[in-house]
Amino acid sequence: MSPRTDPATTAPASPIRIRPGFATAAVHAGQEPDPLTGAVVPPIYQTSTFTQHGVETLKNGYEYSRGGNPTRTAFEVQLAALENGVAAFAFASGMAAEDALLRAVLRPGHTVIAAAETYGGTHRLLTQVYARWGVRVVFVDPQQPRQLERALSADRSAKLLWLETPTNPLLTVVDIAEWTRTAHAYGALCVVDNTFASPALQTPLSLGADAVVHSTTKYIGGHSDVLGGAVVVGDALWEDQPLQDLVGFQQFAVGAVAGPQDSFLAARGLKTLGVRIRQHCENAAVIADWLTTHPRVGEVFYPGLPGHSTHHIAAQQMSGYGGLVTLRVSGGEPAARVVAESTHLFGLSVSLGGVESLISHPATMTHGSTAGTPQAPPRDLVRLSVGIEDVEHLIDDLDRALYAS
Ligand SMILES: *Cc1c(COP(=O)(O)O)cnc(C)c1O
Repeated sequence: MSPRTDPATTAPASPIRIRPGFATAAVHAGQEPDPLTGAVVPPIYQTSTFTQHGVETLKNGYEYSRGGNPTRTAFEVQLAALENGVAAFAFASGMAAEDALLRAVLRPGHTVIAAAETYGGTHRLLTQVYARWGVRVVFVDPQQPRQLERALSADRSAKLLWLETPTNPLLTVVDIAEWTRTAHAYGALCVVDNTFASPALQTPLSLGADAVVHSTTKYIGGHSDVLGGAVVVGDALWEDQPLQDLVGFQQFAVGAVAGPQDSFLAARGLKTLGVRIRQHCENAAVIADWLTTHPRVGEVFYPGLPGHSTHHIAAQQMSGYGGLVTLRVSGGEPAARVVAESTHLFGLSVSLGGVESLISHPATMTHGSTAGTPQAPPRDLVRLSVGIEDVEHLIDDLDRALYAS
C-alpha cells in the first residue's frame, strides 16, 4: 500500500469563492411562497391544462403545460437568476435542451464550430443527427484559439461556436471571453455547455457568451434522481429576433419540456448547489493532489493542479475547480478497466455531479460514440465524479482499486 496522506495537512487552501448573492438567489429566486396557501415550497402543479376565465382570457398566464407550468416557471426563474440570464427554458434532458438551442439558431448549410472533447452525446447529436439535416461540424483544439480564427475565416457559414469548459473528459479550461470575442468578430453566436462547472463556479453569460446549456441531471439536480436540461439566454439578437423568443418558440413547438415533478426536483437541487459544490471541489482537490504521487497513476487532469495545462485560465475564470478528476492508469487500458471495476464507494457508472462518487472509463462508456475519431479519449483514462462523502474513505477506495490493477 502507498503511504497514506493526511488530507487535513495536504489539502490546498480552499480556492472556492462563490460570488456574493449566489446563495440567497439560489434559495429565493422564483421560489416565492404559494400565493394560494402560503406553502413555503412552490407546489408541484401536476396538471396538463388550465381552465380559463374566457375564451381569450387566461387566469394567470397559464394555458397548457407544454407552453408553461408554474412549477417549471419557478425553476426557470431560479436558474436564469443564477446564470445572470434574461430567461431560462427547462427541458426533459440535457440533449433536448441542446437540440432546442441548435434548432433555434441553425439552418441547413450552416456550420457549427465545436471545441473538441465535447460530451459524447453532443458529438453524436452534431455528427449523426444534424449532419443529416445539412449542418456541418468542424472540431477545433480547445487549447488552440488560433484554430478557431482559422476555422471561422475559412467558412462564412459558421454561425455557432460550441464550447464546453472544463472539457470532457480531459478537463481543459477554455477562455470563454476570448473565444466569444473571436466568434462575435465573425458574426457567430457562442454557446457554452456549463454542466461541468455549474453556475456556482462560472457564469458564461457574464463573460460574453450568448447562451448556456445545461444537463440539470448533473450538479443542478445533484442527487442522481432526475433527468433534465436547460437553455439560459442573455439579451442576444439572432437574425433580428431576441434569442429568448427563438428558444422559447422551439420549446413550445417541439415540446421536449421538463415536467412538473422533474422541475421540482431540479429546483430543490439547485437551492443547495453552493454548499454541495464546495464539498465536491474540496474533496476533488484532495484526491487530485494525492493521485499525483500514486505509483500506479500516470497523468492526473484537474484544473486546480498548478501543473494542469490550463490552470492559469481556470484560476481567473472559475470560482473553484470542480468535482471531476481524470487520470491515466499506468498499466494502460486493461489496468484502467480493472480500476473502474474494482471500487466500492465509487459506483461504476456514467453521469456525474451527484452527491455519491462515480467512476467511469470514458473510451468505452461516455465517449463510446467517438471511437475511431480524432475526438476519442485515451483508452487508459479513468474519470472520477468526486462526491461529498468523507474524503479519506474515497482515497482508501481508490487506493485499493489502483493496487488491484
Ligand atoms: C450529461 C451531459 C449532457 C447531456 O445531458 P442529459 O441530461 O444526459 O441529456 C450534456 N452535456 C454534458 C457536459 C453532460 O455531462
